[in-house]
Amino acid sequence: MDYCSERETEGKQAHDPLFIAMKNCGYKSRSLTRNKNRKEWIEGPVIVGAGPSGLATAACLKEKGIPSVILERSNCIASLWQLKTYDRLHLHLPKQFCELPLMGFPPDFPTYPTKQQFVQYLEDYADRFGIRPRFNETVDRAEFDSRIGMWKLITSGGSSTEYTCRWLIVATGENAEAVVPQIEGIQEFQGAIRHTSLYKSGEEFRGKKVLVVGCGNSGMEVCLDLCNHDAAPSLCVRDSVHILPREMLGKSTFGLSMWLLKWFPLRLVDRFLLIVSWLMLGDTSRFGLDRPRLGPLELKNLSGKTPVLDVGTLAKIKGGDIKVRPSIKRLKRHTVEFVDGRIENFDAIILATGYKSNVPYWLKENDMFSKEDGFPMKPFPNGWKGRNGLYAVGFTKKGLLGASIDAKRIAQDIERCYKHEANNHNANNAFSLSLFPQSNS
Ligand SMILES: Cc1cc2nc3c(=O)[nH]c(=O)nc-3n(C[C@H](O)[C@H](O)[C@H](O)COP(=O)(O)OP(=O)(O)OC[C@H]3O[C@@H](n4cnc5c(N)ncnc54)[C@H](O)[C@@H]3O)c2cc1C
Repeated sequence: MDYCSERETEGKQAHDPLFIAMKNCGYKSRSLTRNKNRKEWIEGPVIVGAGPSGLATAACLKEKGIPSVILERSNCIASLWQLKTYDRLHLHLPKQFCELPLMGFPPDFPTYPTKQQFVQYLEDYADRFGIRPRFNETVDRAEFDSRIGMWKLITSGGSSTEYTCRWLIVATGENAEAVVPQIEGIQEFQGAIRHTSLYKSGEEFRGKKVLVVGCGNSGMEVCLDLCNHDAAPSLCVRDSVHILPREMLGKSTFGLSMWLLKWFPLRLVDRFLLIVSWLMLGDTSRFGLDRPRLGPLELKNLSGKTPVLDVGTLAKIKGGDIKVRPSIKRLKRHTVEFVDGRIENFDAIILATGYKSNVPYWLKENDMFSKEDGFPMKPFPNGWKGRNGLYAVGFTKKGLLGASIDAKRIAQDIERCYKHEANNHNANNAFSLSLFPQSNS
């Protein structure tokens, strides 16, 4: 690209909301980093992202004697957990399904560890395997250079560096960027509008009327938190949703489902889950929470949509402390108009509207990742490996369990290649030495 067209692109990007959002997240256009690159060759794999997936992969590689480098855009490990989650968060799934490879949770941790306990576990994990990510390094661009058979990465942050490596492991997560929906009149609304990634506690909303948009696990839990801080939350529900009790028959619903799936077909297990949920929770559609046509596990398998595991929100909905509302039609200065024609005042809006992958913005390749959603195109369990030494960890829509499975596979695969190349390297060295004998002195 010549200088003029680069300037033109920059000019256009300056008005592009996506580009503005990317810049706010730490991304820089390539031309902004032009001519400032420090260059570094990395012997082992480069891992992008120091969340649980990146740490798990680095640990599995380390165990096999393979060094790796982790590049992380923020200033800490597990930035999603440390910087973008609310205070009352616990693991949604029981701890035995959230352990990373090679190191279990401390035995005194509760079944559902708090976010602080989970972060401590990850800190200990990184220490145990001597993992020291390079912080404040945002990968802006990565591309395979077929002339040299290597990946080239350009980072920005503290300094701008061009890394060259043989293996590239994408561990930037399914939740890399907040999704903010287009809502008519969003600029007009005078109250606070906040994505859940910036919500910490209901304390600051005490006594206020708050609309929570989105009824996944986060939206439901934020509503409960608001109730517990004497705010008046309403839950805006656009789609149908499966709500299951977190525990049934004295076992975790997730654990029980996994166990049943070993013996019974998925649809039968779905039936069982729905009957027990109905007996325990009643008919949720009576409260405006319609169930999808497909069962919870089938829906999860086909679309990745996770059922909500109820931690007490439904009781508050039944008791009238949390109101359920349909989709938003438009916002005005202090009011929200819903699609059913109802108009209500709100002091604040919390967007529990989820996250998306950022891979298409920085990884330049056409075979492995979908440009649309930034996930590997091959479904689980085959999405972890691409071409030319490219890998993905943590894009299975199966949480930490899926990430651990990926991490182990990637380490095994790279080990084969790494050791083979190391042997060739040694053989070449031996051959060179035989051509140029060294003195014994
Ligand atoms: C509220 C909440 C609760 C959850 N609870 C559970 C649970 O109980 N059990 C479970 O299994 N899963 C749970 N999940 C799913 C969650 O995605 C995983 O737990 C886990 O965080 C995924 O790890 P990851 O490393 O793949 O992604 P992340 O934790 O998102 O880590 C990715 C890292 O990559 C970095 N990064 C992104 N882009 C770049 C770039 N261009 N350059 C450099 N670095 C970059 C990010 O800063 C981040 O640190 C939960 C998710 C949320 C949001």
